Amino acid sequence: MSTNDDAISTLLGRTAQIATDYLRTVDGRPVVPQADLAELRRELGGPLPDGPTEQLAVVEELARVAGPGLVASAGPRYFGFVIGGALPAALAADWLTSAWDQNAAMYSMSPAAAVVEEVAAGWLLDIFGLPEGASVGFTTGATMASFTALAAARHALLAGEGWDVERRGLFGAPEVPVVVGDEAHVTIHAALQMLGLGRERVVRVPVDGQGRLRPDALREALGSLGRPAIVCAQAGNVNTGAFDPLGEIAAATHDAGSWLHVDGAFGLWAAAVPSMRPLVEGAGDADSWTTDAHKWLNVPYDAGIVAVRDPAAHHAAMTLSAAYYVESAGAERDPFNWVPESSRRARAFTVYAALRSLGRSGLADLVERCCRLARRFAEQLAAEPGVRILNEVVLNQVLVRFEAGEGNAAAGDERSRRVVAAVQREGTMWAGGTTWQGQAAMRISVSNWSTTEQDVDRSVAAIVRCAGQS
Ligand SMILES: *Cc1c(COP(=O)(O)O)cnc(C)c1O
Repeated sequence: MSTNDDAISTLLGRTAQIATDYLRTVDGRPVVPQADLAELRRELGGPLPDGPTEQLAVVEELARVAGPGLVASAGPRYFGFVIGGALPAALAADWLTSAWDQNAAMYSMSPAAAVVEEVAAGWLLDIFGLPEGASVGFTTGATMASFTALAAARHALLAGEGWDVERRGLFGAPEVPVVVGDEAHVTIHAALQMLGLGRERVVRVPVDGQGRLRPDALREALGSLGRPAIVCAQAGNVNTGAFDPLGEIAAATHDAGSWLHVDGAFGLWAAAVPSMRPLVEGAGDADSWTTDAHKWLNVPYDAGIVAVRDPAAHHAAMTLSAAYYVESAGAERDPFNWVPESSRRARAFTVYAALRSLGRSGLADLVERCCRLARRFAEQLAAEPGVRILNEVVLNQVLVRFEAGEGNAAAGDERSRRVVAAVQREGTMWAGGTTWQGQAAMRISVSNWSTTEQDVDRSVAAIVRCAGQS
């Protein structure tokens, strides 16, 4: 790459222009990609050229050929999965993160990155109502946040049995039972699979009609295990948005001498809204927590967050050095001690910028607004004949079922799938399909900072149009 000043400023200036043009027009784009697999492979592929290509041409060409393969998930009418956009301040901080190109592994490699993590960590613990002394790591996403938290749990439970799992591994180790709600997110199982705890060895506890883990069933499961276990609960079910009753679950878990992990990838953000705090009541009693910043906080990928009540367990599970964790006031914090990686992106700059730009009230507004818009979806759709909302809309998630005749479940499944497919083709908005407790449905997640009432109304109109033809 040329280090010529003019070349760089031309390149980055033009790139900023391309990015700005994209964001200015994302609202008017079809939400779905305009190129198929074969086209993308043809346009983007081919042999690696022998010689260099002029850098501005590379960027212009990349933007041109990748463009039709982009999903407008940064825009206001993408309601698939649980996907946020990027707040402008967070996006700008992300650009700086790349330009600064800090290695955020150690304090000495980037004091600014290390301290920004420290500060953002404190703000996050405060927002979520988690213990002030908890340790925090900035991971790639919620999957690795859960991986990290469950590694800390594994450490603590085995240390309690006199077994040093980091040194000796799991061969010959005492059993560590794992108990999950039947609706645990698939990434909890993925984390368990990577930790040698097994994705299918878990004890699954039944849930209620909204997907909430049943504390009575948990007590029974823990009682019959007769030894400390790792319990995984969740704040925010990906389908219904429902919260496990965390206070009761924490009590049952601790009565059994066990470790409670809470997956709050998006639901934990409800704590930012004073009137919604009852939903997360008891979350602060858990032992570890997962959340994402790249979903509801609306920072660019990749931004997950893990917090652990016992910093010593967290440190022991993640550190690269065998040295004991000694907390000493004023000592520098090395980010790599709290996450699975060594060299890493300085992830907290975006989180810091997002939180500062919103402030407490802006964050509460963002979360509250998404929930209000989800209720708007539900109310308008429920008023349509043959449309049923399957969940209690307590958060930002709405499950929409399209019936096809009284008592004909199979036809309702068929029609629901047809409507989802038609809406996805139509392109005004995007929502995914799901199956909720045996019923096919459309899943709508309102997680983007820029979504407005008009976006919801336009989207409802598109859904109703498609349903009328399906
Ligand atoms: C999205 C999600 C995850 C996984 O998060 P990633 O950031 O994709 O790794 C885990 N749990 C829940 C409840 C989620 O919604």
